[in-house]
Amino acid sequence: MASSYVDSVLDDIEANNPGEPEFLQAVREVYTSLVPVLERHKEYREAKILERMAEPERVIIFRVPWLDDGGVIHLNRGYRVQMSSSIGPYKGGLRFHPTVYLGLLKFLAFEQVYKNALTGLPMGGAKGGSNFDPKGRSDGEVRRFCQSFMTELYRHIGQFTDIPAGDIGVGAREIGALFGQYKRITNQFTGVLTGKGPNWGGSHIRPEATGYGAVYFAQEMLATRGDTLEGKTCLVSGSGNVAQYTVEKLLALGGRPVTLSDSGGFIHDPDGIDEEKLGWVMQLKNERRGRIREYVEKYPRAVFVAAGAGAEANPLWSIPADCAFPSATQNEITGKDAASLIAGGVTVVAEGANMPTTPDGVHLFLASGLLYGPGKAANAGGVAVSGLEMSQDSERLQWPRERVDAELQQIMRTIHTQVTAAAEEYGNPGNYVMGANIAGFVKVADAILDEQIW
Ligand code: NDP
Repeated sequence: MASSYVDSVLDDIEANNPGEPEFLQAVREVYTSLVPVLERHKEYREAKILERMAEPERVIIFRVPWLDDGGVIHLNRGYRVQMSSSIGPYKGGLRFHPTVYLGLLKFLAFEQVYKNALTGLPMGGAKGGSNFDPKGRSDGEVRRFCQSFMTELYRHIGQFTDIPAGDIGVGAREIGALFGQYKRITNQFTGVLTGKGPNWGGSHIRPEATGYGAVYFAQEMLATRGDTLEGKTCLVSGSGNVAQYTVEKLLALGGRPVTLSDSGGFIHDPDGIDEEKLGWVMQLKNERRGRIREYVEKYPRAVFVAAGAGAEANPLWSIPADCAFPSATQNEITGKDAASLIAGGVTVVAEGANMPTTPDGVHLFLASGLLYGPGKAANAGGVAVSGLEMSQDSERLQWPRERVDAELQQIMRTIHTQVTAAAEEYGNPGNYVMGANIAGFVKVADAILDEQIW
């Protein structure tokens, strides 16, 4: 009964959202795992909770004109998808990447709703961004783009309405320029963005939070089997914000990270990436804005493997290891890659990125019985500390680093407990996918019922 209801809802969503494969993939993955909840709760079906949670409350699309250093005018498209405000103001990052389009942001906003609910903090879900490519652009060009983007976005956001943050292509430099422009236009210094600098309203540990949180989540998963990260060889993809702080925390907990990547390919350092090498990568990526292939010029014992265009598998995932931390982008682990990870001895996968594993891959992970922490649980540390940044902004106080880190650890622990409890309650112990989807869904669904918006 519930399963045919879910099928018919999915058919309608598919018909109404053509050309948005990532969004449909994310919705299907969540909704098929909610069948046991819908069996028990007919009130969710009656209130059309599934239908409304796949329909953004509001979508804003706008043009972003900007001037390059040569005086040439460019035009990009800006977006903000305000998916749900059921449990708090809209909250979610901004992505600047050439692959950005409405469907990609709808998938990310959809995921964000569940993730934010799992943190236990009062935050709704949103996502935004632009198809602007910051790669190869000067600081001045990026600044002018950000200023133009905010010149439209400012009227749709606010500390009580919608609080954007960073994501791919949006780091400290971009948040600074966006905040500066918001302030000039509105004449208000408020916590309208998170990921701000620590001396102008930002929270300690926000840059570190997603990577640290993913490692804390892996630690929790391992603890269920009486194990730790000590001495574990770890595959990490990406080399941006999430990947860097994943490596940093792995090192602090005795892990042995051996890979990093970017869209050009990956490096494998069999000696391990230690603190000194990580420091060099941070400088390469955050200051020089270089490419990961340069790593092997500096550390010649490592190898660089160029990305294969359109390849069905990425050899990064066939390196024998104990743990995997995909931290680059969506659908970076295919079914073939998942099979390679399992064959290579990986027993823990903690997703720093959003939806980095394809449905085939997820299926294999679940069937294999390895510890698989999906992004909406494992990478929730970033938005959790963003939520703590909002609290600090409201209090006009800054909490010490140690306090924020302790709260982050506690939040990741609580997410783990909720997710495992929900999976168990609905008859699938150890299934973190089902547990995360159900625990997030129930909170938002109950808020929709309480608020009686119909
Ligand atoms: P960054 O922009 O700092 O880094 C992204 C990294 O991923 C870069 O190394 C980039 O390489 C690589 N990458 C991006 N797109 C692709 C692609 N299409 N193919 C191959 N590699 C790619 O972003 P973040 O580290 O912030 O984000 C990484 C992931 O984590 C994303 O999925 C994001 O949604 C997710 N996430 C981030 C959070 C945060 O707090 N920042 C919070 C929760 C999730 P290149 O430089 O070549 O593009």
